[in-house]
Amino acid sequence: MSEDAKYVAVPFDFSQGYPTAPDLFYQCAVCGGILPSQPPDNLGCPCNRLFIDVEAGRLSVEENEKLRLLRREFPKT
Ligand SMILES: [Zn+2]
Repeated sequence: MSEDAKYVAVPFDFSQGYPTAPDLFYQCAVCGGILPSQPPDNLGCPCNRLFIDVEAGRLSVEENEKLRLLRREFPKT
């Protein structure tokens, strides 16, 4: 039961840009797909509204309203 991480929503104004960190993830509000903010390779959500281009260092999303920022937290033991 060591991988019992949970995702906590982080309020953020995406018009200011898209933060990235090892513990930050983006969720597509349409399909519910969760992508790491620093993926090792290009990655898109299942419905393709959200896409992270690693080489260009950018995140693409149709509408910021469809995007959620999540932080992965591990329970304290
Ligand atoms: Zn999606």
